[in-house]
Amino acid sequence: MGMKSDLKLIKNGKRLDGRKPDELRPITIKAGVLDNANGSAYLEWGGNKVIAGVYGPRECLPRHRSSPYKAYLTYRYNMAPFSVDDRKRPGPDRRSTEISKISAEALERVIEVEKFPNTMINVFVEVLQADAGTRCAALTAAAVAAADAGLPMRDLIVSCAAGKIDDTVVLDLGKKEDNFGQADVPIAILPHSEEIVLLQMDGDLTKEEFKEAIDMSVKAAKQIYELQKKALTERFKKGGGKE
Ligand code: ADP
Repeated sequence: MGMKSDLKLIKNGKRLDGRKPDELRPITIKAGVLDNANGSAYLEWGGNKVIAGVYGPRECLPRHRSSPYKAYLTYRYNMAPFSVDDRKRPGPDRRSTEISKISAEALERVIEVEKFPNTMINVFVEVLQADAGTRCAALTAAAVAAADAGLPMRDLIVSCAAGKIDDTVVLDLGKKEDNFGQADVPIAILPHSEEIVLLQMDGDLTKEEFKEAIDMSVKAAKQIYELQKKALTERFKKGGGKE
């Protein structure tokens, strides 16, 4: 964000990849892709490729983390070394720790953790290929994986970003737009109640632009939610469940 450049990000109303300002990159979601997790999902979003696996509720370890009131929910966002153009140093770093923390907090709002006291639920998301917007792709996939695991949920979660490039508010920033743009605002919302459970912002926006960005993401979330539902319906049409 904010790197100075003469690169024009919008020409004749079109973005570098030909999208209109309020257009999402193509998204595909498949639920139930892993045999050894209780729930899973694979998601492609533009150049992003992520896979999510969910375990639990299961015995809570370490035991001191267990609560008599709710399941202990963990979320691990991890970028594969080959997910970016320069090999990424394997293992957690400040960025992945932060993304994991806020994503866990968002998921805790929809998974009915209070139904499973003294247990833990573990969500793992591996970013196989990164092209900006991976935290949104990861959380959107994790919500599908949680539903695929059969966990009781109040709602699904959809995550999406909007931002500003060339003084224009746009949806779903691509890599160059993220690098050379003026703002990026990832959010996560519950599609039914439209409650916002995650909000971050990089760069600067006027109050009006901020509102426009949120409205754009909320509208896009409805589209993404349809894809999540479709992935889950297809999964359960095929007989669903684990043998
Ligand atoms: P998000 O992926 O959620 O947009 P950031 O804004 O932090 O998160 O990152 C934007 C993009 O920058 C990522 O999607 C990825 O393509 C790239 N990126 C992030 N971390 C690294 C890294 N350690 N090495 C190379 N590229 C990275």
